[in-house]
Amino acid sequence: MEQTFIMIKPDGVQRGLVNPIPRLCKEPHLRACLNLAIGFCSALLEPSLIIVFVFTTSLLQIGDIISRFEKKGYYLKGMKFMNVEKSFAQQHYADLSAQPFFAKLVDYIISGPVVAMVWEGKDVVLTGRRIIGATRPWEAAPGTIRGDHAVEVSRNVIHGSDSVENGKKEIALWFPGGLAE
Ligand code: ATP
Ligand code: MG
Repeated sequence: MEQTFIMIKPDGVQRGLVNPIPRLCKEPHLRACLNLAIGFCSALLEPSLIIVFVFTTSLLQIGDIISRFEKKGYYLKGMKFMNVEKSFAQQHYADLSAQPFFAKLVDYIISGPVVAMVWEGKDVVLTGRRIIGATRPWEAAPGTIRGDHAVEVSRNVIHGSDSVENGKKEIALWFPGGLAE
């Protein structure tokens, strides 16, 4: 079955981290209760405070990205949270080494943790790219990840393999030990 390599880039990971609730409260059940309590109290006490609730729950989170692929019908075959070395980022984007933005692109990828994933399913490479949206966020259709959550080409949230062949290469690079069966 076809597989693709998807990486949530550092800005995509950090977007979720700026939501104050996960930072204040690490325990997931308490966090869900806190979100609900804020929503309930906002509506009860002062309807205009509902914006606080919307703000804290509407920021892009890693889970939102995973959900888009799961809801489409794809299977998560591997996932890890990691910091990448400069040489590793250069290897991943080796095809773009002649581009003037290459150094900036590499610095961006190593600027914080990324989430590396392998997704599997029918036509997942092409469909994954359509879920992600166009490279330049201003050309990415609303409803796509980049269309909904990015404005700059140099901080466009997420990477997806652009061909089945490159998907195989990227999976071998990022998951050298293979995937759990
Ligand atoms: P990705 O490989 O990250 O999924 P992509 O396949 O849509 O993106 P590529 O042409 O492979 O696009 O470019 C890789 C990345 O390089 C882009 O996602 C973007 O972050 C960055 N990039 C591309 N063009 C530019 C540019 N003109 N200026 C700055 N950064 C750019
Ligand atoms: Mg690419």
